[in-house]
Amino acid sequence: MTNQLAERSWRQLAQELPIDGRAIINGERKNASDNATFASYSPIDGSHLADIASCTAQDVEQAVAAARRVFNEGSWSRIGAVARKQALLHLADLMEEHSDLLALLDSLDMGKPIAQSTVVDAPGSVETFRWYAELVDKITDEVPATPPGSTAMVTREPLGVVAVITPWNYPLEIAAWKLAPALAAGNSVILKPAAQSTLSALLLGDLALKAGIPAGVLNVVPGSGRVVGEGLALHMDVDALAFTGSTAVAKRLLECSGKSNMKRLSLEAGGKSANLVFDDVEDLETAAAKAAFGAFYNQGEVCSANSRVLVQRGVYERFLEAFARHSADYLPGDPLDQDHQGAGALVSREHAEDVQRAIEGARGDGQIVAGGQRLNINGSDAYIEPTIIADLPAEHPLHRTEIFGPVATVSVFDTEEEAIALANNTEYGLAASLWTSNLSRAHRVASRLVAGTVSVNTVDALGLTTPFGGFKQSGFGRDLSAHALDNYVGLKTTWFQHG
Ligand code: NAP
Repeated sequence: MTNQLAERSWRQLAQELPIDGRAIINGERKNASDNATFASYSPIDGSHLADIASCTAQDVEQAVAAARRVFNEGSWSRIGAVARKQALLHLADLMEEHSDLLALLDSLDMGKPIAQSTVVDAPGSVETFRWYAELVDKITDEVPATPPGSTAMVTREPLGVVAVITPWNYPLEIAAWKLAPALAAGNSVILKPAAQSTLSALLLGDLALKAGIPAGVLNVVPGSGRVVGEGLALHMDVDALAFTGSTAVAKRLLECSGKSNMKRLSLEAGGKSANLVFDDVEDLETAAAKAAFGAFYNQGEVCSANSRVLVQRGVYERFLEAFARHSADYLPGDPLDQDHQGAGALVSREHAEDVQRAIEGARGDGQIVAGGQRLNINGSDAYIEPTIIADLPAEHPLHRTEIFGPVATVSVFDTEEEAIALANNTEYGLAASLWTSNLSRAHRVASRLVAGTVSVNTVDALGLTTPFGGFKQSGFGRDLSAHALDNYVGLKTTWFQHG
């Protein structure tokens, strides 16, 4: 536990939290236009956290109008990169001051251990804002070769009003991945957080106002995906939409864009990532420990979770034993216990039920090597043991369906060709990992895996400086790195004739 909150326990703090569930539209806290709310409960113990504004189509109109007004006025879009950088750095400082609170809100909302949200999610989000703030005044535009007597400039222009729709698994971090570049580029933004995890987004909106970011530049509009999300996706005055979530919703957003104004989309969708362990792996124990991290960290609620482990026959039995042993590092415990480093609660009882159903559906078809049980902790049954299922038939649905929970399948392969074919036998293409001590094999296999990120001799590698996103039905557009700015700017060519 850090700074000013160090004296009290997380549970005490949670009970004392002043949570304001109203939307932030045009710089003001607002109830939904019809005063409707929805209740937010913590999966940690089933407690009631807050009543959140269930925003309406009218609220969407207001938010879009506010975002457009301020964009046209230019008090953010035209103040220049250096001024935007200063404001975003100020926001990052305020987030750092409130990082305990931001972390606690994410843990309460979606069940992840406080030991992780304080060390990974909150600081990572602060750094994301700092990184894009620092980037934006160091980018130069272009003056390409043109015929004598003329000059052309190619400049990056903000798009205007950008909608951002986020999922619940990394509520603050994924919002930061999108908001930081979108705001740094000069856009006005409307953030629609997942209904199950709105709290850190609302605090972030308050902090943005405190940091001096003008009213209307960052609106936070909670509500259902169907009303608020789709309202934004169909809106004729929203210029771009950045989304992270399921492939099914991503496809719906493509339809909405086509039906409305062809708004630009960047879509980060589902995954079913493979982890290939070759029998020339240098350190099988490390590979097994990392495989457990890749499958079970964040309760397996990770889009790029390495939920399909493919192991070459020569090391199969030894790997399976070590993998099962290391899965115990991710046994669920009380997420508000500062010392608990394992897994927390799944996002909701309903989601835990879905995951349990998937496990039960596979129980008779393969061998449950570890886990398989639902647990009751703190009076909540939203907890599931890390579960490893081996020896399922090749065409079993569990190899293809994204479970988004702590469930990994393990299959055996013999040849490199077979491993590559199995790894690519999915509609997704978000990530893949491979373990080998043979450098030629590492390059050969990595180049043939259809995945946005391939991790060699580690799993699920990710960094602020490298793009993250998918191929195939994992979507398109990239978060993180300088490439993410491309989602939020348009290239403008301006010609000058002076000859
Ligand atoms: P989801 O059901 O697709 O929801 C994502 C967001 O979309 C939520 O804010 C949701 O709102 C909203 N939404 C739902 N229906 C909508 C509609 N018709 N129009 C517009 N917006 C709509 O996904 P989730 O359950 O939150 O997250 C799990 C999924 O996200 C998994 O498939 C996972 O792989 C994917 N994911 C991908 C990445 C990546 O980077 N590729 C990262 C994390 C997660 P409500 O929740 O309020 O209904």
